[in-house]
Formats: sequence, structure tokens, C-alpha cells
Amino acid sequence: MKNDDVKLERSYEKNIKIMGKSLRTSRIMLIASLGIVYTVMLFMENNSWIALAFTGFFTALLAFTFYAKQIGIIYFGEYSLEVSASGDIFITILHGHCPKCEGHLKLHKKRKTFNSFVVFIKCDLNDSHIWNADAFEKKT
Ligand SMILES: [Zn+2]
Repeated sequence: MKNDDVKLERSYEKNIKIMGKSLRTSRIMLIASLGIVYTVMLFMENNSWIALAFTGFFTALLAFTFYAKQIGIIYFGEYSLEVSASGDIFITILHGHCPKCEGHLKLHKKRKTFNSFVVFIKCDLNDSHIWNADAFEKKT
């Protein structure tokens, strides 16, 4: 199967920004870490369960961000959340039809080293319908 037959189209792409600054995974992890420290201190000071609930929230945020950075892409419905090698976060829509069957194509990433991924395109109906997709990697 030639790679040319496999097309995955990014029909929507939005860089998530907060107050003009690109929302990077490193920033979220820093904020979440500070949030955990601060809410734990609040909890120890006055036994506030609300503070502890926020600790849980920041911990979940930290874990999710770490996970997203590890795998590079998370699908939710028709949208996907993509994290570039530098940690910029994008909301995207990816479209692709499997040339071998009726399946849809999805982008998968596997971390190779600290900041390089192996990228491949895989059919959601058949795991053997798989193509190399290094050219498709986000370079930003
Ligand atoms: Zn297929």
C-alpha cells in the first residue's frame, strides 16, 4: 500500500491561548503543581474539604496534562487535542477514510525519546491497516 493513498486531513486547528499566550503543557503542569502545594497547605491549616477537593482537581489536571504530553493526541468525539513536541496545545479535527475498508483513520503517537515521537496512522476497525505518518507530525 502506497502512502499516497492514505490521507488524513486536519480540517480544523486552533492553538489554545490564554490572554494572548500559547497554553503550553509546561505552564499547566507548573500551575497545577503550585495549586497542589497551595491547597494542601490550606487543608492542613484549616481542615477545609473544599481545599482538598481543589487538590484533587489540580492532581487530575497534572496527571491529564502529563498523559496528553506523553501520547501527543487525545480524541474526544470529532475533535482531538494535540500536543506538539514543544508542548503547545491545539484543538483539531482530523478526517481520514481507510483505503482498505470502511474504517476511519486515526493518528497515533508513541514517544520515542524525551521529545521525539513515532507517528502512525491507524484504521479504527482493523489494527493491521496501519501506515507510517512521520510527515504528518506537528513540528511547531
Ligand atoms: Zn481499515
